[in-house]
Amino acid sequence: MLSLIEKAETGHELNREELLCLLSDASNLQEITAAADRVRHEYVGDEVHLRGLIEFSNICKNNCCYCGLRRDNTEIHRYRLDEDTIFKLAEYAVTQMGLKTIVLQSGEDMWFNSQRMCALIGRIKTLDAALTLSVGEKSAEEYLAYKQAGCDRFLLRIETTDKILYKRHDPGMSWKRRRECLNDIRRSGMEVGSGCLVGLPGQTLESLADDILFFKQINADMVGIGPFIPHPDTPLRNAEKGNFDLSLKVMALTRLLLPDINIPATTAMETLASNGQTKALQSGANVIMPNVTLNECRKYYELYPGKSVTNCSSDKSLAKLRAKISSIGRSVATDKGFRKRQNNLQIETLSVIMPSNKN
Ligand code: SF4
Repeated sequence: MLSLIEKAETGHELNREELLCLLSDASNLQEITAAADRVRHEYVGDEVHLRGLIEFSNICKNNCCYCGLRRDNTEIHRYRLDEDTIFKLAEYAVTQMGLKTIVLQSGEDMWFNSQRMCALIGRIKTLDAALTLSVGEKSAEEYLAYKQAGCDRFLLRIETTDKILYKRHDPGMSWKRRRECLNDIRRSGMEVGSGCLVGLPGQTLESLADDILFFKQINADMVGIGPFIPHPDTPLRNAEKGNFDLSLKVMALTRLLLPDINIPATTAMETLASNGQTKALQSGANVIMPNVTLNECRKYYELYPGKSVTNCSSDKSLAKLRAKISSIGRSVATDKGFRKRQNNLQIETLSVIMPSNKN
C-alpha cells in the first residue's frame, strides 16, 4: 500500500486497479492525504487562492435528482440578479476585498443568453481580475464567445463518469453531451474545471477510480470534489449522505495524479465535517471560494441543505478567513491563480473510453 502511495507521489500515475486498491482500504487515509499535502506544497506552493463566488441565479431548466435547484422543486424561492447588481458585487469583491478572481455561478438559466452573458463578461473584465463561469452546458459557439468576451475559465462538473448512474440521477440529460461540452470548453481556450460528487446512491469505488482517471485524461485545470448531501426537496431526500473521509481521499488522490492543478476546498466538505475546508487544505486543496453573493439571496442557492458559506462580505469575515489560512502555515495568494503547468501532457487527446461506461 505504501509503495503505491509513493509511486503516486513521485510518478503521478496509477492505474485503475491501483486506485481501487487505495480507495478500498480506509486505514491509509492519513498517508494519502499527507502525500497529497507534500505534492501540493511542491507543485503549487503554500498560497491559497481566493475566488469570489457570485451565485447570480438559482433558476435552472434541468432536474438533477441530487440538487435543490432542480426544476421540479417548487419549495424554493427563485431569484435572478440583474447585470448592474452582479457587476457591483464583483467590483466590491475586487476593489474592496482584494480578490483576484470572480466566479459567476448559476443554474442553467436561459434568460442569460450568449449576448447578455458576453456583455456581463466584458463589463466584469474591466476590473483587474480573472473570471470563471459556471453556468452549465452551452454550445461550442457560446463557449467560444465567452472566451472572446474575456472569460478565463469554465467549470463544468462531470458529476460521475458512470453513464448508468448519470442517466439515473440526471434525467433528460446526456453524459455524452456533457463530455462534448468539456471538449468544447477546452477548444475555446478557457481553462477547464470539472469535478464529481462522492457518495451518489449506487456509486461504486470503481466508478470513483474512473472519475479520478477521467480528470487525468482530460488534463483538467481545476477539479472540485464534494460529498453528496441529500436535499429534502429532491427525489434523493432519504438517501444516505456521502462519506467525508472518502471524499477527502478522492480529492487527495486527484492531487497526487494531477500535481499542478487548482483544487478547491469545497463548501460541501465544510458542510459535512467541522473544519472540513481546513482538512481539505491540508490534504491537497489550494483554493477557497468565499461567497460574495447578496446576503438575502444566499439562502436560496441551496444545492444541498445546510450549505456552509465561507463568507467574505465584510472586512471582519475576510480577516477571519485570512487568519484561518495563516493558522495552518499558509498565506493568501496575490496573483490571479492560473494553473502553472508543470508537465507536457497532451490536452487534445480527449476521446476517452471509460471502463465503466456500458452504454
Ligand atoms: S446540478 Fe446544476 S444543472 Fe442540475 S439542477 Fe442543479 S443547478 Fe441545475
